Amino acid sequence: DNFSSSGPLAPMRGYMEGCNPSALDQEALLTVLQHVRDGVYFVDPERVIQFWSRGAERISGYGASEVVGRPCGEFLMHCDDRGRILCGKHCPLQEAAVRKCAIEGRVWLKHAQGARIPVNVSASPVLDAAGDCVGMVEVFRDVTEELTLLRRAQELESQALIDPLTGAGNRRYAARVLEQSWEAWQRYGDQYGVVLLDIDYFKQVNDRYGHPAGDSVLRSVATTLAGSLRVFDFLGRWGGEEFVALIQNVSAEDAMKVAVRCREVGGSVKVCVGKELVSVTLSAGVALAAECHSAAALMELADARLYQAKQLGRDRIVGPQDARVLTCGDSDEAAA
Ligand code: GH3
Ligand code: MG
Ligand code: MG
Repeated sequence: DNFSSSGPLAPMRGYMEGCNPSALDQEALLTVLQHVRDGVYFVDPERVIQFWSRGAERISGYGASEVVGRPCGEFLMHCDDRGRILCGKHCPLQEAAVRKCAIEGRVWLKHAQGARIPVNVSASPVLDAAGDCVGMVEVFRDVTEELTLLRRAQELESQALIDPLTGAGNRRYAARVLEQSWEAWQRYGDQYGVVLLDIDYFKQVNDRYGHPAGDSVLRSVATTLAGSLRVFDFLGRWGGEEFVALIQNVSAEDAMKVAVRCREVGGSVKVCVGKELVSVTLSAGVALAAECHSAAALMELADARLYQAKQLGRDRIVGPQDARVLTCGDSDEAAA
């Protein structure tokens, strides 16, 4: 339903339960409610508005004189984030009344001027001493500012995690995914492996064709590699001309297959520079989480194997099953 998806359902007994309105100084109570910054309103069981606070006026743009005596669905028209109108069986007030508990969630309301305003709502039934519902109360809070801040934070975060040249995840992002995958492997045994790829003799590309041409090659290689991975795998730019692919749920054999495909598709990239077509080859080191005792050691092992691939002549892959197998301990020594 609308509320569990956009906000926590808070099934608690109606907090107005047992409240005997006649025992309270109603005038004093309403005065207090007028000073609450949030919007507060009461409806009768037919959802006809009985009370509309100043906070509700401020947020919705509708004055009390315009709305008291009218059913709320006539003008407020709450809708969910996909624009679906909630009046009717998805109405939070209705749901609170039927379930006899408080309902909380995020909805959008229609402002008097026409704009849609995001609000957090809390709807509760008002029960009489016999437990019968005699009306409902809704408290709503404008969350426009919170949402704007959230969106800005998400934008900043994505800028901080994406490599601007290639669009791949940056090293920071890759390290984070690597750590998260390590946790999942430790806890649930979700196997994963890494393929560390490095473009061969890339310095020569820059030297012969210029830095901008080198940039184009990096972009094309990154896009091609990313396109050849499965949606749940991850590609990051680990360094200048070095990329890391994180492959989830793989055996050593599968990881090698992914590496072979990466090397093939990366090597098939052709970038037009003037009249020339520039292409590159790639070397790769493959390592699996199961071979190592930490995420850092995993990258060190992949790096040691990549180094070995370079030593053996480049344009090749060294993985767990290769003749001169490097183990996790070896790579630690290599890194030390
Ligand atoms: P190897 O086969 O041993 O990997 O040789 P290599 O030339 O690829 O490796 P080396 O580490 O000697 O040089 C890497 C080059 O990558 C040097 C650097 O200028 C270039 N590079 C790093 N980042 C960028 C970038 O963002 N754009 C461009 N155009 N070049 C870059
Ligand atoms: Mg290189
Ligand atoms: Mg390199």
